[in-house]
Amino acid sequence: MDESTQKGNKEKSTHSKVFSKTQNKEVNFPIKLFINNKFIDSSDGSELDVINPSTEELISKVSCASENDVEAAVEAAYKAYFGPWGKLTGDERAKLFFKLADLFESKISDFAILESIDHGRVYKDSLEDMQEAVRYIRYFGGFADKIEGKTFPCCGTLSMSTRRIPYGVVGLIAPWDYPLFICAWKIFPALAAGNTIVLKPSEEAPLSILKLAELFLEAGFPEGVVNILPGYGETVGCKLTSNEKVRKISFTGSTKVGRDVMRKAAESNLKNVHLELGGKSPLIICDDADMDTALNYAIDGAFKNTSQNCICSSRILVQDGIYNNFVEKFIEKTKNLKVGDAFDEKNFMGPLISKKQFDNVLRYIKVGMEEEKLNLATGGKRLYDKGFFVEPTVFTDVDDESKLAKEEIFGPVICILKPFKELKEAIDRINNSPYGLGAGIFTKDQNKVELFVRHIQVGNVWVNTYNYCPYNVPFGGVKQSGFGRDNGYEAILENTTVKAIYQNFQFESSPKVH
Ligand code: NDP
Repeated sequence: MDESTQKGNKEKSTHSKVFSKTQNKEVNFPIKLFINNKFIDSSDGSELDVINPSTEELISKVSCASENDVEAAVEAAYKAYFGPWGKLTGDERAKLFFKLADLFESKISDFAILESIDHGRVYKDSLEDMQEAVRYIRYFGGFADKIEGKTFPCCGTLSMSTRRIPYGVVGLIAPWDYPLFICAWKIFPALAAGNTIVLKPSEEAPLSILKLAELFLEAGFPEGVVNILPGYGETVGCKLTSNEKVRKISFTGSTKVGRDVMRKAAESNLKNVHLELGGKSPLIICDDADMDTALNYAIDGAFKNTSQNCICSSRILVQDGIYNNFVEKFIEKTKNLKVGDAFDEKNFMGPLISKKQFDNVLRYIKVGMEEEKLNLATGGKRLYDKGFFVEPTVFTDVDDESKLAKEEIFGPVICILKPFKELKEAIDRINNSPYGLGAGIFTKDQNKVELFVRHIQVGNVWVNTYNYCPYNVPFGGVKQSGFGRDNGYEAILENTTVKAIYQNFQFESSPKVH
């Protein structure tokens, strides 16, 4: 079933390659750590296995960073910050971004192939993500020479102003759900603002981001500006978080790990922390909603990227007047979703990323069926003998207090909750959650829209649409979904701090002020 097989043989010592039959293309990629513009082995020689989740076969071994490698990468980034990177003007930095964007755009299908093999995401979605990543690079490159401070009314002979300044070395820690894309959210605003970076991608899917390292080199970014360390959270992640020379950590991942990141940041040098954490995002369908529109977005929000999506609409609340009709149609559509190999165009969903995630999702299904005795409307089983494929699964009439309705599953297990009567009741039920990442509503009534937008406790609201987070709009959560913002100009603010300057002018004879 897997159309894309890897040839697997190492080409030279620093690269490996994959082959996509469908795209009829071979793509090579680095398999080493990227420190100070060099691809190098980890200091202790360790490697990690990168597995194709569609076939469970080894794609390649990749160097796995040690704590010493973190030290070396931070040192390189520190030198670059006070050296070549700090000396570049904003427009010189911008030129490098634009060169990188052109290079990336010319190889976009290589990146999409790598992501689909490494992560399992359907190829069409990978390609769309890579196109959006190009927009990211250009958008944030454009900011590199437009980061401005303020001036304040003079006070006697005092001139007062502020400048926005970078932090210095920024540590970036990313999850695996959108491997390159989430890294792009973090890398480009940090660099545009003048920081240097040490990035820890998820060890589950590091190939596309290592490929990007090649392009940083080709575009001419100075040594040490970008450092990429595939490796484990308990070593690379922890070391980065507690390093004294790292001045900020930008983390995307689970709420549990986010808490640990914040603790370590506080216990070390009290570095600034930005946390994009988990969610249990709800979708509300009101009686007056356009049924077809609501259904299409609900399916997309629930199952896109095999539901490995921080804003996955994993709990759906439907008003009582249309509940049975909506549920029947939602189940029918779910049953028609095609699941399988990423390169087969008819498939909407690929596999889960890893055996760990696959086992976790099946465990939740078991809890729903056996412990909580929920009503399983469709799905519930693994698919195929090989690969981490799970049927799109829907439980209906689920109580708000169910474990499945409350906890983030990060897989294709969707709860349609018990129906609601009034919108206010639905809003109260949704707000009764530690999470606050996103929420959507489908209605034609502007009063209901306003009630929802005003009272819902989340960072992102969608009305008659869902699952859209473009590069130029700030994205982030409230409550235990985190704080700080990726994307948009807010991401530049997030990656800079403010320096206030008070300057005393003691002119002997000042000109008259008109
Ligand atoms: P994890 O929190 O398990 O891991 C995130 C990253 O942190 C990984 O690179 C991981 O490495 C690393 N890590 C693990 N432990 C530590 C530690 N103690 N200190 C520092 N770093 C550590 O999340 P997942 O990778 O499983 O991703 C899924 C989660 O990400 C979901 O909760 C999802 O909601 C959230 N997410 C949030 C988004 C948002 O914008 N709010 C967007 C996308 C995802 P390793 O892989 O080795 O464990």
